[in-house]
Amino acid sequence: MLENIRIVLINTSHPGNIGAAARAMKNMGLSDLRLVAPKLYPHEKAVWRAASAADVLDQAVVHETLEDAVQGCQLVIGTSARDRSIPWPVMNAREAAETVLQEPGNNKVALLFGREDRGLTNEELQQCNFHLQIPTNDAYSSLNLAAAVQVACYELRMAALARQEMEGTPGPKPDWGVEWDAETADADELRRLFEHMEEALVQLEVINPKNPRQLMTRLKRLVLRSRPDKVEVNLLRGVFSAAQKLVK
Ligand code: SAH
Repeated sequence: MLENIRIVLINTSHPGNIGAAARAMKNMGLSDLRLVAPKLYPHEKAVWRAASAADVLDQAVVHETLEDAVQGCQLVIGTSARDRSIPWPVMNAREAAETVLQEPGNNKVALLFGREDRGLTNEELQQCNFHLQIPTNDAYSSLNLAAAVQVACYELRMAALARQEMEGTPGPKPDWGVEWDAETADADELRRLFEHMEEALVQLEVINPKNPRQLMTRLKRLVLRSRPDKVEVNLLRGVFSAAQKLVK
């Protein structure tokens, strides 16, 4: 389970935080680190803070865009301390780890972490299936970036260990892993669905491009929280294509 999880750090300012995140990951048995347009990287401060997790840093992949970093992921979870004006389905780190554990076997999972000064943008969070919020003190809610990575990875490890223990015990297998008849759609397929949906809804005059309001945001939230599979996504696109033909 832990091999299928990638940690994505977006636009990180301080290289020390990248190193400390690499260490937090390795301590908890994770190794797939992705850096989206880091401000200062590579950097010796990253190496110092990684200590004996230099291998995780060496293997870290630098991406230009978030789309590249989450390519092929079926489950994307964004982490943020802040509530949003259009709320996304929120989970704490324990609930998120439980959700990750229930993913079908080969599904790839991405956990997104935001900038030290501004966190994740709304647009970034709105590409996620869920919002992971560590329930911190209201008077000071934002953790250091690497500390947030540590808490998330710790819960993932605890969930993985609990599962291992259950698997060793006799009796009926725990009810983990849902059987499904089609593969979960991945981030690219959903992005293309949303582009197609928006184009069709503009043509159908459901969305006024001069005043789009939060229509697409709400539709994205609906689709993302339902975790559609590839067949369902194609069905929806078929419906939009048919509607587009009719209005032409
Ligand atoms: N000032 C920023 C906070 C950034 S902290 C803001 O307004 O959002 C850096 C990153 O650590 C965040 O983007 C998030 O990924 C993670 N993080 C910090 N505190 C968190 C919390 N309580 N719950 C979930 N993630 C958190």
